[in-house]
Amino acid sequence: MSTIILPPLPFAYDSLEPFISTQTLTFHHDKHHASYVNNVNNLKKDTEFENKTLEEIIMTSKGGLFNNAAQVYNHTFYWNCLTPNETKPSDNLQNVIEKYFGSMDNFKKEFIASATSLFGSGWTWLVQKSDGSLEIFNTSNADTPMIHDLKPLMVCDVWEHAYYLDYQNARAKYVECFWSVINWEFVSQKFK
Ligand code: MN
Repeated sequence: MSTIILPPLPFAYDSLEPFISTQTLTFHHDKHHASYVNNVNNLKKDTEFENKTLEEIIMTSKGGLFNNAAQVYNHTFYWNCLTPNETKPSDNLQNVIEKYFGSMDNFKKEFIASATSLFGSGWTWLVQKSDGSLEIFNTSNADTPMIHDLKPLMVCDVWEHAYYLDYQNARAKYVECFWSVINWEFVSQKFK
């Protein structure tokens, strides 16, 4: 059978301090993300999903297998959206964000408002629709853009485990700090 692998964090555990702590990243990657990976491998064993790719499992499964597979995908995407390095959006991405949101500042304001108002656990995404337009899109629990025919460009994890150790209930403060460590190079590549 093909085993789904936990990708290493693409940066050092202490490199996003003070915005996201070493402790949060250690629990979040080594415990939460790792357990979703283990669950997928256990749940697909000896089933029709055994040799499918993660994307194929997400597109064709339901219930616990879907939830764990989508959480694996969502977390890997989230880590790739973060960096300790200073990055900026490509001119192309910046232009299209300004086209759909008015300005980068307004995009930030709308993204934070959307993440803050998401009820319960979930994810706030920047997605590209099939007509090329951009939209801020919230998903609940493990839900993920690909099953809605949307292309993800950026995501913020707003499950409490992503921020509770650092910010307790202050989700808006966490999302504001997330903004300081966005990997705009990755987001720009996804937009291309
Ligand atoms: Mn998470």
